[in-house]
Amino acid sequence: MTTVDPEVRTPQQVVGAWLERFNAALDAQDADAAADLFATACFWRDLVALTWNLKTVEGPEGVRDMLTHTLATARPRDFHVTEEPTEADGLVEAWLEFETEGGRGQGHLRLRDGRAWTLLTALRELKGHEEHRGSARPAGAEHGINPERRTWLERRINEAEELGHTTQPEVVIVGGGQGGIALAARLRQLDVPTIVVDRHARPGDQWRGRYKSLCLHDPVWYDHLPYIKFPENWPVFSPKDKIADWLEMYTRVMELNYWSSTEATSARYDEDAGAWEVTVVRDGTALTLRPRQLVLATGMSGKPNQPSFPGQDVFAGEQHHSSAHPGPDAYAGKRVVVVGSNNSAFDICGALYEVGADVTMVQRSSTHIVRSATLMEIGLAALYSEEAVANGVTTERADMIFASLPYRIMHEFQIPLYEQMRERDRDFYDRLERAGFEHDWGDDGSGLFMKYLRRGSGYYIDVGAADLVADGRVKLAHGQVDHLTRDAVVLADGTELPADLVVYATGYGSMNGWAADLISQEVADRVGKVWGLGSDTTKDPGPWEGEQRNMWKPTQVPALWFHGGNLHQSRHYSLYLALQLKARAVGIATPVYGLAEVHHTG
Ligand SMILES: Cc1cc2nc3c(=O)[nH]c(=O)nc-3n(C[C@H](O)[C@H](O)[C@H](O)COP(=O)(O)OP(=O)(O)OC[C@H]3O[C@@H](n4cnc5c(N)ncnc54)[C@H](O)[C@@H]3O)c2cc1C
Repeated sequence: MTTVDPEVRTPQQVVGAWLERFNAALDAQDADAAADLFATACFWRDLVALTWNLKTVEGPEGVRDMLTHTLATARPRDFHVTEEPTEADGLVEAWLEFETEGGRGQGHLRLRDGRAWTLLTALRELKGHEEHRGSARPAGAEHGINPERRTWLERRINEAEELGHTTQPEVVIVGGGQGGIALAARLRQLDVPTIVVDRHARPGDQWRGRYKSLCLHDPVWYDHLPYIKFPENWPVFSPKDKIADWLEMYTRVMELNYWSSTEATSARYDEDAGAWEVTVVRDGTALTLRPRQLVLATGMSGKPNQPSFPGQDVFAGEQHHSSAHPGPDAYAGKRVVVVGSNNSAFDICGALYEVGADVTMVQRSSTHIVRSATLMEIGLAALYSEEAVANGVTTERADMIFASLPYRIMHEFQIPLYEQMRERDRDFYDRLERAGFEHDWGDDGSGLFMKYLRRGSGYYIDVGAADLVADGRVKLAHGQVDHLTRDAVVLADGTELPADLVVYATGYGSMNGWAADLISQEVADRVGKVWGLGSDTTKDPGPWEGEQRNMWKPTQVPALWFHGGNLHQSRHYSLYLALQLKARAVGIATPVYGLAEVHHTG
């Protein structure tokens, strides 16, 4: 084992000494020597820089294996600090830059007792394919005399007319919500011809169509899109129609080739041509697109779980999934049963109560609730808030800090935060419990964010409706729905809940289902489950994956990719997916290290 120089003291010196040895080991292509610099319990998270994958390896043996397989091709080198390293509680932290054979990256290092505990390496750009930004921005104007002159607009119109007709896109993105839009913007800056198709008439309609009281649950600092930040006077919690308009504006000014009113109806991979055949119906006319890469950005909250109960056909009132719920206005004075007790259920119950409906929530399993203000203060403020920005933690910096925490140990950081939340809002939880509400903190007490990453469901960020349940203004019933009668929902224990309207706030299916719909069940099964970490907690079966299943990285089906998540994830991970797609578009070798195996279908 390498010994650590006892004379070395300041964080700068500790990091300097470590980097010197690390760089020397990398230059010598010596995986053993590099692995020796890592602590017994350690994590190296690589975002595309060495592995052409999103991959976290653990322990010196994991580091050794990754380097053994990647050093010769990736040739990582010249790791150096970009600012003064810091030290707190025996942990030395440093922000890094480095190079690989094909790109430049950014990194973050945590050293404990002179050895690496966590290392993040993230590709930022490909050499020779840098974005035209900053000092490399396009001139726009073309000075001089040019009889062949075509304006920016003429060139743009020409491109839009040709792409998908006389020329083929390199990438087709199915789904033009915030995910598809952010990725398309990145690809545009990287000069990768891309078409986004969405069945809606206008960008942003995904949000316009949701119930009218909806505002984002995440604050503005968490929600920026790539390249264009929300202005300083933008509301903290964006109302849904404002987000919709922002997405529409963004699509236009970022000059995306966005085909609205276009449904992708089928896709198959043509092995001989090395391209997909994607059939789309645009404004009623079918045509075939032949991209080399296909991205499904069809939304993790896009495929409604439509429950089926006996008696739905005899129920005389109205019934719909929460995704089709228009808002409360038509239901003043009506009896409404909302099946479910997560975010949508609470939002919908709250809005219905406000207009004077008689509302009953049916809780089928326990839910985790955190009050919005508490979550913002304890859970997010250090990274995403006005205060964080004032402290120099920009959204980009926050994204990297967040990315530097390996998923394996993330819950350990989350648990104490949720203990604080529990303490702060003790009265609130006591009241909910007294009302009979079944509340949980996640299988291991790690709360909302881990639930989101593991299963994408099972929580409510309280903006007021929880109080309605706690004090009985929204009635609470428990159990599974057994059947519907002409005018009631009947639960398994025989409880009858009279209803004029039934809202099924029963969540959304796996994104994998989109692949089955569009391509085939066989391909969907080959891809396997999408989302989750393999934490072996409820709805996230093991084995441990280390990264989110199949998201933003190569899948077992070549040239098929999944993109999406919340606004933070769409912003951050769209860069890595765009770089992977760009590399393939220009023929850069992309040997993937550690392609995830499939353990679960659907
Ligand atoms: C009630 C509710 C509240 C939410 N609140 C937040 C929040 O506060 N913050 C947050 O970050 N996220 C929130 N989410 C999650 C939200 O769904 C996602 O953040 C966001 O919509 C995901 O964006 P996306 O682009 O991945 O998918 P979507 O916005 O779902 O977009 C997918 C698109 O794919 C299109 N599509 C699907 N299949 C096809 C096809 N075959 N052909 C053409 N088009 C197709 C659909 O028309 C749709 O426009 C919320 C979700 C819901 C339901």
